Amino acid sequence: SKAQLFDKGTRVTITFNDVAGLDEAKVEVMEIVDFLKNPKKYTALGGKIPKGALLVGPPGTGKTLLAKAMAGEAQVPFFSMSGSDFVELFVGVGASRVRDLFKQAREKAPCIIFIDEIDAIGRARGKNVMMSNDERENTLNQLLVEMDGFGTDSGIIILAATNRPDVLDSALLRPGRFDRQISIDKPDLAGREHIFEVHLKPIKTSPNLDIKKLASMTPGFAGADIANVCNEAALIAARKGKTEVETEDFNDAIDRVIGGLEKKNKIISPEE
Ligand code: ATP
Repeated sequence: SKAQLFDKGTRVTITFNDVAGLDEAKVEVMEIVDFLKNPKKYTALGGKIPKGALLVGPPGTGKTLLAKAMAGEAQVPFFSMSGSDFVELFVGVGASRVRDLFKQAREKAPCIIFIDEIDAIGRARGKNVMMSNDERENTLNQLLVEMDGFGTDSGIIILAATNRPDVLDSALLRPGRFDRQISIDKPDLAGREHIFEVHLKPIKTSPNLDIKKLASMTPGFAGADIANVCNEAALIAARKGKTEVETEDFNDAIDRVIGGLEKKNKIISPEE
């Protein structure tokens, strides 16, 4: 049914505190949050508030989390949909789904619309393998029509995420559309330490656990991988009947997650 397609203006409780690292990205998105909270402050001098921003970065680095946190900070409803859902489930009806989403968002403005994996519908002509070109173009065109159809003072901010900005149709990147790009990179050592801190909060760990060491053992991990390590470690310790999660449990969890990542890399072909 229709209701399954997207988050219908959910209220979110996630805030910037839940997002570790990503300091530069946070500064940029805070500006957008302020547009949502105080639009008049910006339009007073004749300026136009941007309609959208593109969050660019590898999988699992916190793009969705950051978009939700923006809605939480601005205290506005959060609508989301995934480009790949359209492609896989709704061939033939993409455009009407887009229309529907924007209609509901307009009713609840100010709000945030988040489109994950926008490259699935927003690829330049002839580069989409999963959807027929007509279908994809209809869906993309409807998105462009909707974006052009509301004024900059409508209180709707559209965020989209991708790890392939290079394949996007240039129409999406024109002024008045996704004309701002915010890069969301994999965390460095300090970033990983902060992400561990966030995800260790709910976990009962042994007092001598060395978080810096965990960060140094996980180069190349995205935030989602670190969240995974913390959860796996807790499950491993619980399985052994322990009352707290120890360093060795984290070591085992890291090995397990590395194993999973290696498998995934073997299955998923490199960049098409
Ligand atoms: P994808 O491109 O695969 O959709 P994404 O960049 O949107 O990935 P998220 O879905 O936001 O990634 O991240 C998945 C989970 O990983 C988050 O819900 C959170 O638990 C954890 N996570 C990722 N990045 C961070 C971060 N910077 N701080 C804290 N937690 C993070």
